[in-house]
Amino acid sequence: LVSRKKKPEDTVINLKGEYIGDGKQHFVFGPCAVESYEQVATVAKAMKEKGLKLLRGGAYKPRTSPYDFQGLGVEGLKILKRVATEFDMAVISEIVNPADIEMAAEYLDVIQIGARNMQNFELLKAAGAVNKPVLLKRGLAATIEEFINAAEYIMAQGNGQIILCERGIRTYERATRNTLDISAVPILKQETHLPVMVDVTHSTGRRDLLLPCAKAAIAIGADGVMAEVHPDPAVALSDAQQQMNLEQFDQFYNELIASKFVH
Ligand code: PEP
Ligand code: MN
Repeated sequence: LVSRKKKPEDTVINLKGEYIGDGKQHFVFGPCAVESYEQVATVAKAMKEKGLKLLRGGAYKPRTSPYDFQGLGVEGLKILKRVATEFDMAVISEIVNPADIEMAAEYLDVIQIGARNMQNFELLKAAGAVNKPVLLKRGLAATIEEFINAAEYIMAQGNGQIILCERGIRTYERATRNTLDISAVPILKQETHLPVMVDVTHSTGRRDLLLPCAKAAIAIGADGVMAEVHPDPAVALSDAQQQMNLEQFDQFYNELIASKFVH
């Protein structure tokens, strides 16, 4: 169902008037994890000033260590919803439990399925059974074929509103947190009719690489870019290393939209 052979025209997903997959580039920003209303609202305000309205933030954090901050759960979803309403934004957040999908659909505009859950088939089926866009991230060690099949699981349940997100894969290279598989973008665009985004934060894990990788993503044909922004990354409860502060965000965004490939 996701195959371009079955449906030659691009799937376009409407998020509060931003049409993902329309040939223009769309940007998703926000903190790694929702920590407080003030924290999310501060980032949303900086986005609003730039005319940006796709806000992200994790309420359920799939952390490597069980002793690390696990997210605020439903409290986090409520904060996101409040900020989204106040700033007229669309909100994207990860859900990790199939049983939470229906509940979360009331708070969110987009359900994110994270890299660690790309082959959680019960979660994929649950996300496929609701009428809500899904942002599906590529698994840490998933082939492109497995990634496409994961999207097929969602669409097979009737939900065709899927955004694919390349977020880096694990290789032997340690200079970056993951290896951004930039060629996955045109392959996914050729093989499927779904919009494709690139998460430059989790793929690189390095603040100094966010801008060049975002430019590369757009130049190669991505429909959008995701990156993490936090009012004070040094005290962030997760991903303190690679989130941008507001000043870095400002510079990043200005330089990115000045790139000749952005329209
Ligand atoms: C995230 O976007 O918050 C996240 C945890 O990313 P990933 O699933 O790609 O690691
Ligand atoms: Mn993060």
